[in-house]
Amino acid sequence: MRDTGINELPSSYRALVAAAPRAKEKTSAGSAGRAPLEKIKKEYAECLMCPLAKSRLRIVFGEGSPRARLMFIGEGPGFTEDHLGRPFVGRSGNLLSDIISKGLKMKREDVYITNIVKCHPMKDPSDPEKHSNDRPPSPDEVSKCMPILLRQIDAIRPEVICTLGSPAAKIMLDRKDGISNLRGKIFDIHPLKDDPCYSVKLVPTFHPAYLLRNPPAKKPAWEDIKVVLGLLKK
Ligand code: SF4
Repeated sequence: MRDTGINELPSSYRALVAAAPRAKEKTSAGSAGRAPLEKIKKEYAECLMCPLAKSRLRIVFGEGSPRARLMFIGEGPGFTEDHLGRPFVGRSGNLLSDIISKGLKMKREDVYITNIVKCHPMKDPSDPEKHSNDRPPSPDEVSKCMPILLRQIDAIRPEVICTLGSPAAKIMLDRKDGISNLRGKIFDIHPLKDDPCYSVKLVPTFHPAYLLRNPPAKKPAWEDIKVVLGLLKK
């Protein structure tokens, strides 16, 4: 395992958060609180910044502790998340809950869970009731939504970010490598343009949905979770 020394989120995304309307009230991790995160959530409650707004049923902002030391980031909500307005629910969400409770010995409400984009990207946006209708978010949708994620990171100031799946890792690290190449490493990133001194360790691992389809991948995923655990114990 090695620290690759990647320093910061792609400048295109950092420019977006610098330009985004600010709801931040705290300036240090110690003052992190529910109000700033809730304020950000309210600001984007009717977000129309990208085309995903037209087809979504609910914005899936994220959930968990506003003082979380650990943040999980996936790619985007799916069918069940869109219907319930919560991230990582259903079978893959249950597996993530197991990873948190059995692997990390933490409660789900003690971490923070969100996605790169907050609305469900659909192959057929005319029918949110259709199953197997997921697609990856477009680069434009990612760029439009990234300020929300960066403001969430700013409000929470996690010590460790664990990305779930290849797209989330590639987007957060601005890398083209797949998850098999990115996992097994710890990345040091400085995601906030306004506070370049803030750094967070990023540990990529597999998406729970992939683990359900490929049970042998649970072994390396467990190695990743042990890395997260080790970072949280420091
Ligand atoms: S995906 Fe993000 S930017 Fe697009 S409408 Fe939803 S909240 Fe707004």
